[in-house]
Amino acid sequence: MEPVVHAIFEPQTCTWQYIVADPSTNAAVIIDPVLDFDQARNTVSTKSADALLSLVEEKGYTVDRLLETHVHADHLTAAKYLQHKLAKKGQRPEVGIGKRIGGVQERFAERYDIAREEYEGAFDKLFDDDEVFHVGELESKAVHLPGHTPDHMGYLIGENIFSGDSIFNSDVGSARCDFPGGNAKDLSVPAFPSPSPTPPPSTDSLQTTASKQPPSSSPFPRTSRSTPATTTRPRRRAPRPRPTPPSPSRWRTTST
Ligand SMILES: [Zn+2]
Repeated sequence: MEPVVHAIFEPQTCTWQYIVADPSTNAAVIIDPVLDFDQARNTVSTKSADALLSLVEEKGYTVDRLLETHVHADHLTAAKYLQHKLAKKGQRPEVGIGKRIGGVQERFAERYDIAREEYEGAFDKLFDDDEVFHVGELESKAVHLPGHTPDHMGYLIGENIFSGDSIFNSDVGSARCDFPGGNAKDLSVPAFPSPSPTPPPSTDSLQTTASKQPPSSSPFPRTSRSTPATTTRPRRRAPRPRPTPPSPSRWRTTST
């Protein structure tokens, strides 16, 4: 069984966010939700996050996890805001990220003089490489995809891997690797899992949704990260995604 995938574009920070649900149970995860960050005005709002909550409510999903692919400097996560809002409805999903996040936090904390107590324990779940978890009845896996940042993870759910900033739309260029700990060689050969022993589906069944990210960075390191994501079948090398133009409407929702 394949998940229902809602791909939602946040235009201010050019971020793709995903709600991924098990159609048999309506259990869901939200991948890389963001706050609306206006870098020019240095303001933040929750308009996009509130829209995610509206979609969750409309579909009747129960959000079990909020998944971050990585942390870096030019997107602000909405995970804690969503966790707080969902907790009021009795759901309180855990916020998960890769186990290497501690090293990234320490690097930024030293650079920007952030006290340890401000970031320690910020995440509820630290995924091991290839750790298996479930979205409802869908077996899923956390996959280490280093290069963009050293902690970067992808999430394999059904036949889709949500690869965060490891892959960009082709019109934007290759994913950047100029953040602290980034590595172009690691990025060029992502650590996608070994092919399944079972025959893969035909090419026609593949779904690719890519996104783009502005090239600039910002001096705001805390709990921020950028989130273009791609859903595609796992491969040894990063596929070249087909560009997907942003929807004319603010919220783009697709399902598979
Ligand atoms: Zn990023």
